[in-house]
Amino acid sequence: MATLKAVRGTRDLLPPETALWNQIEATARSVFARYNFGEIRTPIFEDTSLFSRSVGEETDIVSKEMYTWEDRARAQSEKAQSLTLRPENTAGVVRAYIEHKLGETGQLQKLYYIGPQFRRERPQKGRYRQFYQIGAEVMGPPSAGSESPLRDAEVLEMLATFLDELGITGWTLQLNSVGSAADRARYNETLRAALAPLAPQMCPDCQRRAVTNPLRVLDCKVPEDQPLIATLPMIAASLDDASKAHFAAVMAALDAAGVPYVRNDRLVRGLDYYTRTTFEFTHGGLGAQNALLGGGRYDGLSESIGGPKAPGIGFAMGEDRLVLTLQAQQAAETQLAHAYLAPLGEALNAPALRLARELRRGGLRIELGDGGFRLKKSFDAAEKTARRIIILGEDELQSGILTVKDFASGVQTKVPRGELVRFLSAPTHE
Ligand code: AMP
Repeated sequence: MATLKAVRGTRDLLPPETALWNQIEATARSVFARYNFGEIRTPIFEDTSLFSRSVGEETDIVSKEMYTWEDRARAQSEKAQSLTLRPENTAGVVRAYIEHKLGETGQLQKLYYIGPQFRRERPQKGRYRQFYQIGAEVMGPPSAGSESPLRDAEVLEMLATFLDELGITGWTLQLNSVGSAADRARYNETLRAALAPLAPQMCPDCQRRAVTNPLRVLDCKVPEDQPLIATLPMIAASLDDASKAHFAAVMAALDAAGVPYVRNDRLVRGLDYYTRTTFEFTHGGLGAQNALLGGGRYDGLSESIGGPKAPGIGFAMGEDRLVLTLQAQQAAETQLAHAYLAPLGEALNAPALRLARELRRGGLRIELGDGGFRLKKSFDAAEKTARRIIILGEDELQSGILTVKDFASGVQTKVPRGELVRFLSAPTHE
């Protein structure tokens, strides 16, 4: 008999890796609590129409990736209900918000969730059919300030704090605005016109989208289509004054809070419910599946599934990808020496050996260079083998103050010789 295996695209999570999952979840709970979020747990399956009405019929998720089945009818006269394993959690949270009349409190609802989601995608590294998301939503009646750009900036600042506390370095926040529903409708028409002569040269999916939902063409990943997509008009030109002002206020608040971002005019995201602010945090270490998390504002979502006006903003992080990033970072950090010690000139070789001995006796991994190397050669060697470089010249030897340059941050610090072991032992992201 053939041995049974976990289904394609699903995996077992085993120790010691599960400790990392728990650490990520504990950090999320702790950070979100400081922003006064509470946890919500919604069912793993929902009525199929919840997703088709919110995520959108024309999206990849709804048109080809959902696990959907007909439930058994209770009585012969009854129609079987179509059920779907949740492919994302925002729709479930908004349904719960409507069902429990949370809007009637008059307050903002700040809810986070942690749990599995299901999409029938082509499995690869960082992409699974059962994957895990940690996400949060801020929504409420407009009178509670739910439309304010401050909410967008606060959520983005919270995400930057979360990634920093987790120790994930090197992330990029990509930011865009897709405007109001009216702006998007206008942009869709502009795109439709621009696509009419181009679509016949594009992939079959784009040919269909060019007619049904032109915005989705911007999600196309087919390499041959990219040069044509690059010629399409940008959404920024279709934003009305109110949307432009909202976006400017989000960016101003991020600047004031010191959260770095880059604008990406092509970021429209793969779900239909987004309005105004859309964003992704990406990480170079992830390869093709480089999005750590994504999200945006969804001012019309509640109404589109029969609820009251309840603008909001939210995000979902791929927990699997947070784990992969942390693992890769830890592997890189443990392979690299704490520091590369570069003597400036051959006369400094012997004092450098002595300093290296001190540091190694302090438990540090030290790569010792050679005073015969030019400085550039020392730097090249140091960047390949260590997290930092320490230059030892005559001045440093006499003064007992060493300059330490950290490669990840680019920061240079002057450290007294007696403090070096303690300084170099600290994690580099601090
Ligand atoms: P989305 O719900 O599509 O906006 O995705 C939000 C985040 O969830 C992405 O940035 C990924 O980190 C993660 N994600 C989405 N789909 C998958 C998948 N199939 N496998 C693993 N992570 C995923």
